[in-house]
Amino acid sequence: MTPDPNASVPITQDVLTIPRKLPDGARVNIVGLTREELRQALIEAGTPEKQAKMRVGQVWQWVYHWGVRDFAQMTNLAKDYRALLAERFEIALPEIVTRQISADGTRKYLLRINGGHEVETVYIPEESRGTLCISSQVGCTLTCSFCHTGTQKLVRNLTAGEIVGQVLLARDDLGEWPKPGAPKDETRLVSNVVLMGMGEPLYNFDNVRNAMKVVMDGEGISLSRRRITLSTSGIVPEIARTAQEIGCLLAVSFHATTDEVRDRLVPINRKWNIQELLAALREYPRLSNSERITFEYVMLDGVNDSDEDARRLVRLIRGIPAKINLIPFNEWPGTPYRRSSWERIEAFADIIHKAGYASPIRTPRGEDIMAACGQLKSATERGRKSKAQIAAEAGA
Ligand code: SAH
Ligand code: SF4
Repeated sequence: MTPDPNASVPITQDVLTIPRKLPDGARVNIVGLTREELRQALIEAGTPEKQAKMRVGQVWQWVYHWGVRDFAQMTNLAKDYRALLAERFEIALPEIVTRQISADGTRKYLLRINGGHEVETVYIPEESRGTLCISSQVGCTLTCSFCHTGTQKLVRNLTAGEIVGQVLLARDDLGEWPKPGAPKDETRLVSNVVLMGMGEPLYNFDNVRNAMKVVMDGEGISLSRRRITLSTSGIVPEIARTAQEIGCLLAVSFHATTDEVRDRLVPINRKWNIQELLAALREYPRLSNSERITFEYVMLDGVNDSDEDARRLVRLIRGIPAKINLIPFNEWPGTPYRRSSWERIEAFADIIHKAGYASPIRTPRGEDIMAACGQLKSATERGRKSKAQIAAEAGA
């Protein structure tokens, strides 16, 4: 079966808007609102316009700097105002359904969001940093043939609040909120965020952008844009916008050096091919004022891992400041692919390295709890592809 041609059509966006008229008793969730959205919402709830900016600053600090979830604790606000906030707003996060901790310390959270859908978030502790891998969609519209998430149809986009909520939840679980009066602790447990969980972030652009604005805000979680990496399968028209409106680091799921192979692995390549993708990537460092682009390259035995592939890759990316992240394929039930041997991966890395590019091999983390790259997939399903379909699409 050929992949669904509609798979590359952008899905309708769940643009975050504050409902003008909420059903009786429903409250607006503060988590994920941008400063401007929060200002508007506070005004609508009766905050005098002149005070609104100051109130945004106060509430913001409580929620994102101190991790407070209860308006009653916002002690620099008048009691009446706290009561008003509690009546009109909530500070709501996704619910943790399960938390698994791998032998290597990786934590995988299964979260439940509105509608009963489920997504996964993974925390990866390393010696000098801790990376939180967050999801942007429930499932994915795309059908990359080596990706477990790609076997799960898109259920819906996450809201900005659900994206920010993943960061807040991880900080809760790791006990990472500052304690009033305690000396400032500069070590950060969640020091980096990668949009490499479930979903294609650039098909949920507005919510991802707004969420990252909240995460980057200097008076709250305050992660610099250089500590955030967005990974895309290659949604070419959104790449320049990512540079201009988010400005974070970019990773691209490259995975092949010919259109013929990339069409099979990353079917969105049929819409925007390697040359079009490279043209957009060439512009990214200048537009975002950032350094290198990360090329992700999954090592699939006998599919994309020859010396010739390595040499072709080097030729293709010439002129783009880049690092090539080689990802040993992580197997999942029913996949037709196998991981390349370590010798093959090392030989491939060596060719790239000799051409002057950093070529780290990504250590699989949390494999024992199915938390490694491309293994995420929740039980929320609209339809599941059969093993036969997966195999046919992979040309295996
Ligand atoms: N949708 C985005 C981000 C999520 S995937 C994207 O495709 O870029 C994060 C990375 O894991 C991508 O590079 C993806 O291609 C890779 N990946 C997917 N399945 C994998 C698997 N089974 N083994 C190793 N890497 C995988
Ligand atoms: Fe979606 Fe990324 Fe998986 Fe492709 S690799 S199916 S874009 S999550």
